[in-house]
Amino acid sequence: MIDEKFDVIVVGAGPAGNAAAYTMAKEGLKVLQLERGEYPGSKNVQGAILYADALEKIIPDFREDAPLERHVIEQRMWMLDDNSYVGMHYRSEDFNEEKPNRYTIIRAQFDKWFSRKVRDAGAVVLCETTVTELLRDTRGKVIGVRTDRAGGTIMADMVVLAEGVNGLVGQRAGLRKELKPDAVALAVKEMHFLPRETIEARFNLKGNEGVVIEIMGTVTNGMTGTAFIYTNQESLSVGIGCMVSDFVKSDTSPYALLEAFKNHPSIKPLLAGSEIKEYAGHLIPEGGYKEIPELYGDGWLVVGDAGHFVNAVHREGSNLAMTTGRIAAETIVWLKRRRDPFIADNLAEYARRLEQTFVMKDMKKYKDIPNFLHAKADTVFGLYPRLISKAAQTWFRVDGVDKRTKEKEILQSFRKGRTLTGLIGDAFKLARAWR
Ligand SMILES: Cc1cc2nc3c(=O)[nH]c(=O)nc-3n(C[C@H](O)[C@H](O)[C@H](O)COP(=O)(O)OP(=O)(O)OC[C@H]3O[C@@H](n4cnc5c(N)ncnc54)[C@H](O)[C@@H]3O)c2cc1C
Repeated sequence: MIDEKFDVIVVGAGPAGNAAAYTMAKEGLKVLQLERGEYPGSKNVQGAILYADALEKIIPDFREDAPLERHVIEQRMWMLDDNSYVGMHYRSEDFNEEKPNRYTIIRAQFDKWFSRKVRDAGAVVLCETTVTELLRDTRGKVIGVRTDRAGGTIMADMVVLAEGVNGLVGQRAGLRKELKPDAVALAVKEMHFLPRETIEARFNLKGNEGVVIEIMGTVTNGMTGTAFIYTNQESLSVGIGCMVSDFVKSDTSPYALLEAFKNHPSIKPLLAGSEIKEYAGHLIPEGGYKEIPELYGDGWLVVGDAGHFVNAVHREGSNLAMTTGRIAAETIVWLKRRRDPFIADNLAEYARRLEQTFVMKDMKKYKDIPNFLHAKADTVFGLYPRLISKAAQTWFRVDGVDKRTKEKEILQSFRKGRTLTGLIGDAFKLARAWR
């Protein structure tokens, strides 16, 4: 047993755990952070887009030394069918601002940097240490953790569970249920290396400008999911993910899906000549608001992916992780200063504070989207991309057919694919889920 007792133990050194540990250590609390990986970031997979606002609220001057790849000046949204894509691009010189809003990052480097900040703020960070269970007193209050190290029992007044999507410690302690296959996506990702100049020429970039492409359509084989390509300085992050429940029903493996995606005629030229150096898979909690578990109890609270805080519609996760980590930490510091015990009644303040943030507001706004997408996967990710691509082709092909006839053709093709009632019903259900 480690004799020293801590104010707080943070389980996990991803964005949520780092945000929490940093915020509390900076305020003088005695913090121990435990990470099972060889180093922070070694186990972590992300696209990755970093949303500056969430980090700025924790480390305002992070741009001075954080390992940032490119700042995003262009967002592309593509809908693929088998041979084509229909796209919407938004590019603005305004994003070349003094303090850019979004960056691409490489998580292994970013997490290491963040962890150095946590140490510099005064926390003790122990890697290669897996928390195996929570320790409780006779009344059930969490009073520490057991780890896989010899004699690795460590005591603390409070434990922050920032253990990511699997949440095994919380699960073993009965604080949350097992993840449901229809509430979690499995994503696979590769790093494609290319010379900097090739990336800049291919994506119309200069300096540290970056482009991100979010993609949906037939490339997920009728499953609920999306793909992405993000530009880093000398590499492209390329990935695809679908709901686990869909993979279970389908005979497609994640690897086969990624291969098919990379070979799509609209994607292949973007990756041509690249050297693949990394392949990784990871789960993403995409069940939305309804899957958020109990967030606090006597001596513990949950942050980040472990709390199911991911906005799948906007592809946001790490910013929700950092924000929940920060808010949890601020609540703990506040209670400590007031000398209030870390019991459920007092920790309810964490949930109250979260309600005021974009995190809970967005989670609530999109609470019905996961169900809508699952129920309509074939239509949303198969039929509509095909119909929209066909319509675009009919419209843009100049072949001697007059435009009024083309309009009729497009309308007919939609009505053949989906009845008018079906079309109106889908639009109505989407609007209701989106509200
Ligand atoms: C392919 C992919 C692409 C993504 N793209 C984006 C993106 O572009 N932008 C974005 O904002 N989000 C993105 N996300 C989501 C984002 O990665 C997560 O929301 C974010 O990492 C959650 O942070 P976290 O700290 O809660 O969990 P994690 O980052 O998963 O960190 C949890 C940490 O806890 C450690 N741990 C787990 N169990 C234990 C234990 N028992 N003991 C000790 N340590 C433990 C793990 O090793 C890990 O380091 C993406 C996710 C994936 C999979």
